[in-house]
Amino acid sequence: MSKKGGAVTPSAHGLPSGQAGPAPRRGTDPADPLDLIGIGFGPSNLALAIAAEELDPGADRLFLERNTGVHWHPGMLLEGARMQISYLKDLVSLRNLASPYTFLSYLKAKGRLEKFVNIGVTRPTRLEYQDYLSWVAGHFADVVRYRSEVVSVTPVTGPGSTALDLLHVRVRDTATGTPYSLYARNVVHAGGGTPRRGTPDRICDTPSVIHSSRFLPAFPHRFPDHDAALDLGVVGDGQSAAEIAAHMLTHYPNAKVHLFVPGYALRATDNNPFVNEQFYRQNADAFYADDPHRRALLRTELRNTNYGAVEAGYLDTLYDITYADEVRGEPRLVVHRGCDVTRITEDGPRLNVLVRDRTGGPDRTAICDGVVLATGYTRELDPAVFAGLDPLLRRDDFGALLVSADCRVDADESLTAGFYVQGYAEGAYGIGDTLLSLLPFRSQRIIDDLRARRPEDRPSAGPYPPDHYVEKDLERVRAVMERFNFATVISADRDARVLVTHVPLVVERDRGGEHGTLIGHLDRSNPQVELLRDRPVTVVFHGPNSYLSPDVLKTDKLPTWNSMSVHVHGRARLFSGRDELLRVFNGLCEQAEPRPGSYRLRPDDERIDQLLSHVVGFEVDIHELTGRFKLSQDLDEDNRALAAADMARDLGEERRTFVADVFDLAPRSARPDDGPGSCGCTLGGPPAGTDAALAREAGQTVR
Ligand SMILES: Cc1cc2nc3c(=O)[nH]c(=O)nc-3n(C[C@H](O)[C@H](O)[C@H](O)COP(=O)(O)OP(=O)(O)OC[C@H]3O[C@@H](n4cnc5c(N)ncnc54)[C@H](O)[C@@H]3O)c2cc1C
Repeated sequence: MSKKGGAVTPSAHGLPSGQAGPAPRRGTDPADPLDLIGIGFGPSNLALAIAAEELDPGADRLFLERNTGVHWHPGMLLEGARMQISYLKDLVSLRNLASPYTFLSYLKAKGRLEKFVNIGVTRPTRLEYQDYLSWVAGHFADVVRYRSEVVSVTPVTGPGSTALDLLHVRVRDTATGTPYSLYARNVVHAGGGTPRRGTPDRICDTPSVIHSSRFLPAFPHRFPDHDAALDLGVVGDGQSAAEIAAHMLTHYPNAKVHLFVPGYALRATDNNPFVNEQFYRQNADAFYADDPHRRALLRTELRNTNYGAVEAGYLDTLYDITYADEVRGEPRLVVHRGCDVTRITEDGPRLNVLVRDRTGGPDRTAICDGVVLATGYTRELDPAVFAGLDPLLRRDDFGALLVSADCRVDADESLTAGFYVQGYAEGAYGIGDTLLSLLPFRSQRIIDDLRARRPEDRPSAGPYPPDHYVEKDLERVRAVMERFNFATVISADRDARVLVTHVPLVVERDRGGEHGTLIGHLDRSNPQVELLRDRPVTVVFHGPNSYLSPDVLKTDKLPTWNSMSVHVHGRARLFSGRDELLRVFNGLCEQAEPRPGSYRLRPDDERIDQLLSHVVGFEVDIHELTGRFKLSQDLDEDNRALAAADMARDLGEERRTFVADVFDLAPRSARPDDGPGSCGCTLGGPPAGTDAALAREAGQTVR
């Protein structure tokens, strides 16, 4: 980096140098991208930086933070304010107690370990937590650039690729305004929330109306005379509102404080240990695995563990202040119950605060000198930053991002670069999504996922299945799926418990994406049903397979097993409409008995309605299709023909005898009343004549 006379000049990399942090070794050229860029360096990405160093030390990563350092909610670093969680829920302890970045390690490094133990508290002050975060960040100076604001994230196609495999991150140096570009295979966005303050036509944009996120720097600056007789407003009923009201009462002894709350009064946070079990890792995982309707209900039920509620002890503190005022005969806190602040307008040097009565009473106007909006944050992707990426991201019917258990946002197939979010999917992960409790686990999940997707980190030496076994002719692959449509449907829940069901499926070639769609049905009581609700799924089609004896061949080979199987990866969706289910039933009949005049269901058959109440339909939008055809590719033409004939033979008479044995029936030749092909039909397999057809097909495949 070069620095002349204190001025910031571009470095050799074309990046602005100076105090921002190291110029990245990689990432400025799309041909040499970073593995990971983290947006923001608050607690979420600090936890990620630790997890990355401990679990994935080799990868190249860079975090970009627009501030000049780690500043954790600086507007609310009120003296004496305490964390809402135990110091043991630091950035790493719950994942790795031996980490050098635990809160206890920090205390030891600062020489305060014994003193902290001596004061006997479990919840440090916010000031101390901020100091802890800064101390951790100091260890990661080589992977973070400060005063670096990400202004856009856009998918691009890297050199030699056909997919959108990189994310182009445009950055602005906040000190100089200099823009620069970086490229990464993955981006983890942990940019926090956006202060909720209402549009300027409703809530006037003046220095006297301050969001709580800017309380400490802005409020004393706007109201420097602490002895003035002011009317100060606070809008909100959460922890920040209570803390700000108490701060005003303490620091502005002659001020009247108007607290505008939507309910009857401030309420206590429900943080009893039973309720707090929601923050156990396994319970958060169970929440994610639950169906969306139940998740929404639970979120509503648990809302007051974080929103619109104040820590019970703090309510007492605030009330003690107001009682002392009563004793002095100078009540100063005015609680405006049951109201919404709908408008704030300037009136000379003062403010008119228009209040709507939620219980139906008349609107009122309160006059204030200053108002603090303790109205919380919204958690949305900034449209200005993500305009180029957002159209490729998948969302549910309510507009919420669809995310994997590992925080990766589901995206269009054209996007192979990874986009992960921390704190933007409370609907999927629960109340803990925007809080600190789950950071150690969440960061591990993200790192594990990044590693699992990196080809060079996969354990096998070469690609699997080996390229020469991968069938390139998709017609053949589909033929196996259609002829051998009794498939294995595999799902995994959040605890990696695998559920498997064997069902016949219909292949709908022309529906869905490039590879088509599978449809089928399950018994409603099958526990796997819940795992097919808008979830990833794997389906395996087992085509013909057979033992190949060396005796069959004209060459000296070890025995082996030839087989054709197809692996499908996709996303499952459930349905239960009569028409859709009828399409499944009819499709199965038509696929099994394609000949004209074969059995077909009558839509008005009453028995169908009885059946419908017991089953649920599902479809799989196929994202990936792999035919693994291991067909003696290592042999010469003659020997492959022998192998093919042997497989075809194995599919014939011997199997028929075996099936008869398993059914505990006499061999078919001894049962003169058996019609031709009845055995195949009973098994739901292809019609009579199949053996010959398969022999032909096997012959073609090996040629
Ligand atoms: C006053 C207050 C107290 C809280 N106390 C607790 C508590 O005790 N316990 C608890 O569990 N939770 C608490 N929370 C919840 C809080 O959300 C989490 O503590 C935590 O801040 C979440 O961390 P984060 O890294 O996801 O987001 P943040 O802490 O908000 O950090 C986001 C970072 O990203 C940076 N950034 C944003 N956009 C960009 C961009 N485009 N380019 C570069 N950088 C960017 C920001 O500057 C910021 O540093 C509290 C919240 C508040 C407001």
